[in-house]
Amino acid sequence: MSLPPLVEPAAELTRDEIRRYSRHLIIPDVGMDGQKRLKNAKVLAIGAGGLGSPTLMYLAAAGVGTLGIVDFDVVDETNLQRQIIHGQSDIGRAKAQSAKETIEEINPYVTVRLHEERLDSSNALDIVAQYDLIVDGTDNFATRYLVNDACVLSGKPYVWGSIYRFDGQASVFWAEHGPCYRCLYPEPPPPGMVPSCAEGGVLGVLCGTIGSVQTTEAIKVLTGIGDPLVGTLLIYDALAMEFRTVRARKDPECPLCGKNPTITGLIDYEEFCGTVSTAAEEAAATSTITAAELKAMQDNGDDLLLVDVREPGEYEIVRIPGSVLIPKGDLPAHLAELPQDRPVIVYCKTGVRSAEALALLKGAGFASAKHVQGGVTAWAHQVDPSLPTY
Ligand code: ZN
Repeated sequence: MSLPPLVEPAAELTRDEIRRYSRHLIIPDVGMDGQKRLKNAKVLAIGAGGLGSPTLMYLAAAGVGTLGIVDFDVVDETNLQRQIIHGQSDIGRAKAQSAKETIEEINPYVTVRLHEERLDSSNALDIVAQYDLIVDGTDNFATRYLVNDACVLSGKPYVWGSIYRFDGQASVFWAEHGPCYRCLYPEPPPPGMVPSCAEGGVLGVLCGTIGSVQTTEAIKVLTGIGDPLVGTLLIYDALAMEFRTVRARKDPECPLCGKNPTITGLIDYEEFCGTVSTAAEEAAATSTITAAELKAMQDNGDDLLLVDVREPGEYEIVRIPGSVLIPKGDLPAHLAELPQDRPVIVYCKTGVRSAEALALLKGAGFASAKHVQGGVTAWAHQVDPSLPTY
């Protein structure tokens, strides 16, 4: 589906801009007209992380006149494997500030606006209203639904991308011309069902592939060239090196963009998506110990079984001494082997998966089971700082 240009052209390009963008200007489909549209365009990037890095850098290089960045996070060493807008000397600095400097180095003609706050229902509509198009690089469902809803309510195109391990997806959600994110995914997955990149990992360069697809789509929509991924879901498999597309249809019953919408304003997205499952929350409420408490129990010679519920690759990186590995997904099949006469203590990387494992154990009658708050990460911080974190 081809669509008219989203943005009106700027009045003119300066002599310096004409030289800088010459490789765009000589493409007939872009030309002076397209480049002037990019100059006049205002694009908002949600997050200056894995997907936001290549997206912001290429949008800046392409000459998008105004780039907004929503990010309140700080650059961490574990980001640098994929978040190429930041460098070694940026560790500990605000991602928004670090990204702004890189963009200004790539292209001084870009105006950068920073929104160093958590995007939520109170500010999303105001921020989205200041831009023509939104590019989303977040990896949590609450923000994804929030951005989708804010875009539909504001009539803005939403360029979405998603990555995990070797798999990526991208689409352009634009309720005026096709489906929105809710049309495809009416309900968020149950909490804990879909692991994040922090839990499951991601091949760094996948951010470049999917971020580049998002940037391409943004440029096409802004300038009105080609057929954007409106009504199309792109699915990428890096291991097979295969791209395929599936049609994505607008759902006439969509509560947001359908015929009879029931969602007419932003809602509470943390509640809608649930950050932790209720069962896990309830189990953890009464049966959580700290890493320091676990150490004291071990030093005291307490009889307990310590179970690591992460994946084998994570166990290989770092583990709490004295633990056995039973990945969370395998736990149901191993319940019969677990002792009933001494406490089973479970831990994971940060305490999210172990709380779910704890709920499973409690449900199976392991009344004295406990989980370790903050997981092996907390152990490395509180008990043995010589251990690596990841
Ligand atoms: Zn919809």
